[in-house]
Amino acid sequence: MTASTTCKDSVELLLEYLDGELTDELRAKLEAHLGGCSPCEDFLKGYKATPGLCRKALAREIPKEVAVKLTDFLRSEMAKVTK
Ligand SMILES: [Zn+2]
Repeated sequence: MTASTTCKDSVELLLEYLDGELTDELRAKLEAHLGGCSPCEDFLKGYKATPGLCRKALAREIPKEVAVKLTDFLRSEMAKVTK
């Protein structure tokens, strides 16, 4: 990863962050980026605004295969925003 975190990097980090799998160092990077990037901030807000069931499911209560598909979906949505 380069010194400055790009939006694309941030999506990767964000997904790990939401899974609670981010190191303190990477979380700091992510938060620094989110603080100065409104598309990413909006993405996170939108994500947090999704129904609790969905978030819970994304976190751990759906089959791995579905989680992967959902992750791909989020990534592709994010790619549209950051283009
Ligand atoms: Zn961004």
